[in-house]
Amino acid sequence: MKHYATQMEAARKGIVTEAIEKVAEKELMRVDELMPLVASGKVVICANKNHKVINPEGIGSMLKTKINVNLGISKDCKDYDVELEKVMEAVKMGAHAIMDLSSHGNTIPFRRKLTAECPAMIGTVPVYDSVIHYQRDLSTLTAKDFIDVVRLHAEDGVDFVTLHCGITRKTIDQIRKHKRKTNIVSRGGSLVFAWMCMTGEENPFYEYYDDILEICREYDVTISLGDACRPGCLADASDVCQIEELVRLGELTKRAWERDVQVMVEGPGHMPLDQIAANMKIQETLCGGAPFYVLGPLVTDIAPGYDHITGAIGGAIAASAGAAFLCYVTPAEHLALPNVNDVKQGIIASKIAAHAADIAKGVRGARAIDDRMAEARRNLDWEGQWSCAIDPETAKAIRADRMPEHEDTCSMCGKFCAVRSMNKALANEHIDIL
Ligand code: SF4
Repeated sequence: MKHYATQMEAARKGIVTEAIEKVAEKELMRVDELMPLVASGKVVICANKNHKVINPEGIGSMLKTKINVNLGISKDCKDYDVELEKVMEAVKMGAHAIMDLSSHGNTIPFRRKLTAECPAMIGTVPVYDSVIHYQRDLSTLTAKDFIDVVRLHAEDGVDFVTLHCGITRKTIDQIRKHKRKTNIVSRGGSLVFAWMCMTGEENPFYEYYDDILEICREYDVTISLGDACRPGCLADASDVCQIEELVRLGELTKRAWERDVQVMVEGPGHMPLDQIAANMKIQETLCGGAPFYVLGPLVTDIAPGYDHITGAIGGAIAASAGAAFLCYVTPAEHLALPNVNDVKQGIIASKIAAHAADIAKGVRGARAIDDRMAEARRNLDWEGQWSCAIDPETAKAIRADRMPEHEDTCSMCGKFCAVRSMNKALANEHIDIL
């Protein structure tokens, strides 16, 4: 029997796994093209051995850009049925990954339900869950408590875990010295930072990184190296705290690869548009081409209620410059827990960003659907247009709400329809306008 622990180790040993075969097929690649990318860490296939229903996806800058949807209950919004409805809607709409960020109550049944029933990749942030799991104050938790929760999530079938391994006691001095406008805005990062401040100890996710690697290797859990110091406003973008942490994430990436553990690296955050491409390049250089997983980036700080748009602008630029994985941003960002409609808006915005980037970087087959849409538009073929649309329901509803007098046009121009006129002119037909 062919033995391997992780997809990375399999690829390094030349073993073609079922997951590698499926990902190659989805990406219109040959297996022998994909294998070296998985072996070198440029592509990850997040597929925990205990997540039996997974429909595997590859994440890497040369593959189709993938999108993640954050869900989970909070103390103020704690209905798991509503949360599950959002998961099903997200998967239906094409989310490739669901991160369960629940921060209230017993999180185990929901997490296990997700890995038992959801075919998308499942991610978690064990540091949030540590506080809930033990129902104790943060300062009373020990390093072992945190590591045990990582193991619990791995056993439960979680495919990737965000771990804030890159901040250390040195970061405490950095944050105090450099006086950022928004300090640390990463929820997990702020918990690790607060724990270090209260206990006087080193970051357990950094200090016991080798133990974590053992767990991740055993279950094939991909580590998503969290960026605790991701900028929370434009003024903090590309500052010393962010870049210093990124250097450490690069070192941790290489340590994981030595153990065949798959790694992604998380990134900004809020960032002026002109800094995004350079940030992607720095990450690629420092982290050896490990897939970059970005939250946004949000290109302005002043659009609460519309941050799915600020995030989509940044996401399109980031992905076209090398990011592989976009974390969706909803209109509720900075304001509230997203509801079902916010989730929908966030997914659509991220899908547009991802698709636009895939076209720009020439991902295999990405543009074919745009070409089909162009033909359907030229033919005034409305059914054909719905079949290519990212959100056909909304498109259909808008047309139905304002139907034209003549079926073969739309109510924008009516008989002045340029498409209709050109089709008729080129077919030598009479064009009646009045
Ligand atoms: S009526 Fe105008 S907007 Fe509508 S399909 Fe024709 S050209 Fe396009």
